[in-house]
Amino acid sequence: MGDVGGAAARDRFSDLLDQVDAAYAEMIETPSDSIGSGFRMTMAERLELQERRNRALMYQVFGQLADPPDESGSVPAIKPRLAARLRIPVREVTRRFRTAALLCARRQVSGPALPPLLPVVADATAQGTLGEDHLKAIANTMAKLPSCTSVTDRTEVEATLVRESAKQDADFVTELGRRLDEVFNPDGHYDESDRARRRGLTLGAQGSDGMSKLTGFVDPEARASIEAVAAAVRPGRHQPDGTVEAQNRDERSPAQRCHDGIKLGLKIALGTTEMGSHRGHPVTVIVRTTLAELEQAAHAVVDPGVSMPAPARTGGSTALPMRDLVRMAADAIHYLAVFDDHTERPLYLGRQSRIATADQRIICYSRDGGCTRPGCLEPGYHSEVHHSPAWHPDGRTDADALYFACGPDHKLVTDGHWQTAVTEDGRLAWTDGEAPPGVNRAHHPEELLRGDPDG
Ligand SMILES: [Zn+2]
Repeated sequence: MGDVGGAAARDRFSDLLDQVDAAYAEMIETPSDSIGSGFRMTMAERLELQERRNRALMYQVFGQLADPPDESGSVPAIKPRLAARLRIPVREVTRRFRTAALLCARRQVSGPALPPLLPVVADATAQGTLGEDHLKAIANTMAKLPSCTSVTDRTEVEATLVRESAKQDADFVTELGRRLDEVFNPDGHYDESDRARRRGLTLGAQGSDGMSKLTGFVDPEARASIEAVAAAVRPGRHQPDGTVEAQNRDERSPAQRCHDGIKLGLKIALGTTEMGSHRGHPVTVIVRTTLAELEQAAHAVVDPGVSMPAPARTGGSTALPMRDLVRMAADAIHYLAVFDDHTERPLYLGRQSRIATADQRIICYSRDGGCTRPGCLEPGYHSEVHHSPAWHPDGRTDADALYFACGPDHKLVTDGHWQTAVTEDGRLAWTDGEAPPGVNRAHHPEELLRGDPDG
């Protein structure tokens, strides 16, 4: 009885979506050579507006997926499934849920629903006035307003930004937001919580040259420490090649000395036991390589006739050039995982304990590289150790039954949303019950070359 309305609504939505599909298909087929550029401008404008409407519906769907009025939902359980069906990264799924949370009415356990956190923005989005970039600009400005800003002022800022978004592009709105922020906070009265909210460093993706861009904001305390280490790396001291005496030949820029100072500080910190432990082994750099590659690299460092092998991988999936690895290993790497060259399968280390020991975790770094759920890119540093088949009180817990799974995915399998099984070649296969079991090739890209290994 209760789903009669649901069935009718589903039929109606399916019908409407079919109509949109049909209209797009016909538009793509219809010759547009003779429509004239005046009409092309009109068409571009309408396509842009349609995309904004499409986004508004998307956020409505995400808002209801996160908090369905008709049934109970579990965001962690649907995230990977949603990401797989839409072929978008989980991070984008998360971003959409977060934006939807700003735009949707907030249901309460009892009493009427509260208005959305950004009600003016929600209205304008539904009408197709705001594009993704406008939404981002407004949400960023609202999030950055100092905590001392009154509710009335916040509403005023929101309404102003929405009104201007209807006339201007997002770059203008971003700049306007920055200037309004100054109006409301001329003296820069930021308190501890404002600084805590704004702090953050993002280590960008590693480029093909091995370099990564670091961006973000540090708080005053972090700045003071960075200043101190950068000053310690003064001209002539702590040269990258280890020379100390060449006082006059330090040609490093201030930016390069700051970089070397932070690197030195981190290296010293990792050399102590003060960093504690990470999932059962001391915090340190973990690198996967084979004995043959390591020997070749050691020879290549001293003999230009020997070629340098391909970079090793760290537990964070960073490509670490072998030359750098040999230099780091000279200082001390406590966990340099080295594996049999032929099988790449490490020796099993039988253990009785429920908690995977450090040695067993190291084995997972080599075989799995990172989370074993198909399509998951989380590296080893972010992974927990999953027991498959499920750990049994009087059973053995040896390396054959231990596999990497990132926190969210480990929880999904623990909660029974996914099942896992060990394949014939010793890898962990996952299934959500719908798709056939699959192994994760993301940490073994070489397996994807020469055709689809699972196709
Ligand atoms: Zn994962």
